[in-house]
Amino acid sequence: MKYDAVIVGGSFAGLSAAMQLARTRRHVLLIDAGYPRNRFAEASHGFLGQDGVAPSEIRRRALEQLTNYPNFQLLEGEATDAERRPGGFTVGMADGRFVEAQVLVLALGVADTLPPIPGLAERWGRTVLHCPYCHGYEIGGGPIGILASSPLAAHQGSILPDWGRTTMFVEPGVTFDEEQLAVLAARRVMIETERLVELIGEGDRLEAVRLADGRFVEIHALFAQSRVSIASPLASQLGLEMEEGPQGMHIKVQMGCTSKQGVFAAGDAASPMHNATLASASGVMAGISAHRALIEASLWS
Ligand SMILES: Cc1cc2nc3c(=O)[nH]c(=O)nc-3n(C[C@H](O)[C@H](O)[C@H](O)COP(=O)(O)OP(=O)(O)OC[C@H]3O[C@@H](n4cnc5c(N)ncnc54)[C@H](O)[C@@H]3O)c2cc1C
Repeated sequence: MKYDAVIVGGSFAGLSAAMQLARTRRHVLLIDAGYPRNRFAEASHGFLGQDGVAPSEIRRRALEQLTNYPNFQLLEGEATDAERRPGGFTVGMADGRFVEAQVLVLALGVADTLPPIPGLAERWGRTVLHCPYCHGYEIGGGPIGILASSPLAAHQGSILPDWGRTTMFVEPGVTFDEEQLAVLAARRVMIETERLVELIGEGDRLEAVRLADGRFVEIHALFAQSRVSIASPLASQLGLEMEEGPQGMHIKVQMGCTSKQGVFAAGDAASPMHNATLASASGVMAGISAHRALIEASLWS
């Protein structure tokens, strides 16, 4: 069967695009491998009406509502390749199956590459965090740290004191300009230039970090910037134009439209700002733009 729209990626962005498209009565297929970026966190915060709900439960509720639409289908598995064909696209699955679509929406998400410091990766999403708006409140106001892997950490360092007394651990080679240092000083951020070498604490808990000179600094959470990469080769296979963001490359979009006709993108893979609500909103936009493209195609065929 040829679908009107195939959406690859079934989390905040892809589910939101699917909801818009399913409600247009078009035939929609959502392909999802089931590895959303926030799967390491017990709860998702800040998403209106779902604050504190487990990410898997938000996905379950969204899918339950989507399956009420008879023109919606879910295909669990990984899409490994996508190719333009006359009148649309073919998407190949890892198990050898193929599906066809008139338009494609890519909601692929991103994968995080974390700083290789002992004790850091195993606490990701628990006490090692990427965003204070998502998990800062739950730290409880105790001492917190930020690992400054680039000068961009100055911005996050300047906002963190609202969530607790902040120490910035500066990685070798990272420097800040005078204005950044003045803001950090005004916000009473303590700057530590001795290298952070290990995170210490029972299980997921974080009690302190150990520095290269043997000192320990008490902190209850550490903010760290990951490098991100789009979680699938589909975007590059289709030759989509990319843009450089502060953490890595993302798909260039305008109102959900990519540089290639008939291909739409949303969520973390298409934005330098990473947040569930923003991903969901951009999924709505991509879904609406994809619907518009389906109508336009039918006008001239
Ligand atoms: C640890 C952590 C905690 C977070 N907590 C919060 C929070 O509390 N609140 C908040 O607002 N934001 C939070 N975020 C940010 C939030 O998770 C992301 O902004 C959001 O998940 C982006 O949604 P998305 O749909 O773009 O991508 P994702 O949620 O990453 O989903 C992408 C989906 O596409 C699938 N996929 C990718 N490629 C393919 C393929 N080729 N075939 C099939 N399926 C594919 C993946 O398996 C995945 O299911 C957190 C991020 C992290 C890292």
